[in-house]
Amino acid sequence: MTDLPPLREIIARYGLQATKALGQNFLLDEQLLDRIAKLPGKLQGQQVLEIGPGPGGLTRALLRAGAQVTAIEMDRRCLPALAELEEAFPGQLRVIEGDATKLAHGIEGPFHIVANLPYNVGTALFVGWLSGQNWPPQWASLTLMFQQEVAQRIVAEAGGDAYGRLAVLAQWRANPKIAMKVHRSAFTPPPKVMSAVIHVTPAIMPEGVSARTLERLTEAAFGQRRKMLRQSLKGLPGALAALETLGIDPARRAETLSVAEFVSVAGLLSV
Ligand code: SAM
Repeated sequence: MTDLPPLREIIARYGLQATKALGQNFLLDEQLLDRIAKLPGKLQGQQVLEIGPGPGGLTRALLRAGAQVTAIEMDRRCLPALAELEEAFPGQLRVIEGDATKLAHGIEGPFHIVANLPYNVGTALFVGWLSGQNWPPQWASLTLMFQQEVAQRIVAEAGGDAYGRLAVLAQWRANPKIAMKVHRSAFTPPPKVMSAVIHVTPAIMPEGVSARTLERLTEAAFGQRRKMLRQSLKGLPGALAALETLGIDPARRAETLSVAEFVSVAGLLSV
């Protein structure tokens, strides 16, 4: 195994004090990082896209697991630390400097995506990776750190407050799971809230359902989540008729409809 200096030493050597504006909360516990890098499954020889490598803790773990890593980082200060890793693992790491929200969707798959990202960037990328008509996607799996509250919204079942558009988007053609909870004290500096790693694999897309239609439907339904469906969906042509065809009571509210029910309604609207 390659002998690398501790991450704290790398941070000190390159002056990588965490910057709040870039949502930097670093993970320095190599055992924890190795556990995260195991979540996508066997990575020997596999392509991995890592977003936000920072000082390279998770990157090291992925490289140790034998992955071929492409890493996108927008903080220039981190580049010399990442260049050390490129040398330590010859031919295994390619670093791209820039903003992942502009670059990440242009990279050709298949690959596993792994990231510990600031909350807003992570959610925006996550929604992008799960959207669009093309399915299966370019990625084989997503392994992403989120605030625990966001992770719970992603895996939520119908009936609770956490259930909403994010749950339907994540579950209608993919299998999201909370793979690991991570205590705030594991980060440097520690964030205010607890975190969790979400692991997602693509599932089969239901036939005859347009992704855009399902998005419009959930937007309308959850846009007024406390209202009855007969009210929240009345501006969406065909929606009330679809509820009637499917025997769904229009007096129900959006949060009581299962993902399968949303898919059935969207299926009737997509024809
Ligand atoms: N992966 C490292 C770890 O686990 O210790 C760093 C995690 S830190 C929470 C998030 C990283 O994402 C930082 O290095 C930050 O500079 C980077 N980052 C933030 N916004 C980004 C963006 N839009 N594109 C690429 N990297 C970004």
